[in-house]
Amino acid sequence: MKIPAFIDSHLHMLGVGYYDEIINLGKVKSIEEIKALLLDSDRDIIIARGFNQENLIDKRMPNKNDFSNIEKPLVLFRICGHVAVVNQRMLDLLGIDDFTKQVSGGSFDIDTGLFQEKSLGLIYQAMPKPNKEDLKRYLIKANKILIENGITKVASDDFSSFGVPYEMVIEAINEVDVAGLLDVEITEQVNLPMEELRDFIKKGYVRRVYKNFKMGPLKILGDGSLGGRTAALNKPYEDDTLNIGILTYTDNELSELVELASQNDMDTVIHAIGDRAVDQAIKVIKKAQDKFPRKAEHNAIIHAQVTNKKQIDLMAKSGIGAIVQPIFINTDIKVVKERLGKRSEESYLFKTMYDKLKLGFSTDSPVETVNPMHNIYTAIARKSIDFPEYEPFLPSESFSIEEAIKAYTKNNLPYVYSQAHQDYIEINQDIFRVKYQAIKDIIVLKVYKNNKLIYERKN
Ligand SMILES: [Zn+2]
Repeated sequence: MKIPAFIDSHLHMLGVGYYDEIINLGKVKSIEEIKALLLDSDRDIIIARGFNQENLIDKRMPNKNDFSNIEKPLVLFRICGHVAVVNQRMLDLLGIDDFTKQVSGGSFDIDTGLFQEKSLGLIYQAMPKPNKEDLKRYLIKANKILIENGITKVASDDFSSFGVPYEMVIEAINEVDVAGLLDVEITEQVNLPMEELRDFIKKGYVRRVYKNFKMGPLKILGDGSLGGRTAALNKPYEDDTLNIGILTYTDNELSELVELASQNDMDTVIHAIGDRAVDQAIKVIKKAQDKFPRKAEHNAIIHAQVTNKKQIDLMAKSGIGAIVQPIFINTDIKVVKERLGKRSEESYLFKTMYDKLKLGFSTDSPVETVNPMHNIYTAIARKSIDFPEYEPFLPSESFSIEEAIKAYTKNNLPYVYSQAHQDYIEINQDIFRVKYQAIKDIIVLKVYKNNKLIYERKN
C-alpha cells in the first residue's frame, strides 16, 4: 500500500553514515564475541560502538584487561554514547596515566579503562578528524540508509559532530547535493557556539537555500541524558540522591544565544531532557519571543522526556513545539523508573503533547535506529523491541496509527521548513490493518519523490 514518505525532524546525517563505517557491537552477546570482531579491523585506531553490558552473557562492563592482547589502540562506545572503554594502548596514545587530572563533568579510571561523559572529550581529541571527502562519503551512506527506510526529508544536526569547521560541513553537503547524489532534503539544525553563530550570521548563511539543503533553526544542547544521569532535573535522581544533572548553560548564556537567533529571524530548537532544562528552555524562548516578536515562529524543545503536564501547558501557551523520539523507550524502559521514581509517571507524555502542541517524531539517529517502523511501533505499543519482557510504559500515552503517521509527516513540515510534502512510499503491508506487533517488521518497497520513483527494493 502507499503512504506518505516519512520526515524525521531531528537526527545526525553525518553521524548515521559514520556509524555505518565503524564496528557495530549492537548484536554481540559476549566479550569473546567483541574481541573476535575487533581483531578483524584494519584501522590504526580501532573504533567500535553499540555494546550494552546488560545483553552480554558476562553480565559486566568490558574493561581494558579484556583487550590486552590487541596490539592497536582501541575504543568501544557503549550504546548510549556516554560511556566508553579503552585499552592500555589507547591510554598510552592519549598520554593518560596516574598523574592525569580528572575532567569536570566526567570521569575516567585508568585501571578499568572506563571513561564517562565529559572525559570522553579526551578520547575524541586523539581520534583522526575526518576530511571533506570523508564527510561526503558519510553523507552518501546516510542518504542511502534513509531512503531505504522511506525517509525523504530530515532536520539534521551536523555542525558539531566531528570538531571540524562548520563551513567544511556546508561545503561537503553542498558538493554532494550539486553532484545530484542527495535525495534526502536536509534542513540543517545549526548547532554552533556563540562566536561561530555570529560568524554564520555575518556571512549571510541564515535561511540560505541550496538545492536539497537549507539552513534551519539554531540548535542548542541544554542538558545531558537520563541514562547517563546528566539530564538536568528539578529534584535529585531517585538512584543518585545528590545529583540533579547538568545544565549546559546559565540562563543568561542561553538567552544571549536564543535572542541573537531571534533578532536574525532564526528559530531555536533546544535539546532538553530533564524538567529543569525544560523549564529553562521555555523561560528563555518566551523571553526572546516577547523581546523580538517575529511573524511565524517554529521554536521547539527536542526530547522533552521529563516534562510534566503543567510544563506542557506552558509550552502550548507559548507556541513552543516538541520534537520527540518514542523509540527512546526501547532503551530507557530499563532505567526510567530507577532514575525518576514516581516522576516517571509524568515523563514521555508524548500523546498528551500531541493533543496540545505541534509535536513531530524523530529518532536522533544514530543514537537509535532510523527505522520509522520501530519508532511507530514504540509510539503505539509503548514497549521496548530489544527488551520485550518489560510491561508497556504508560500505555495511556499510546498513539493510534493515524496519529503516529501524522506526527511523522505533516506535523514535521514546520521543522523542515517545508510547505508541502508530496513524497510517498510503497510498503509491503497494510499498516492500518496489521496487528500492531507486526508494524515493526513492515518493509519499504518503493520510494517516490515528486512522483518520480527514486528507490526500489531488490529481493
Ligand atoms: Zn541529537
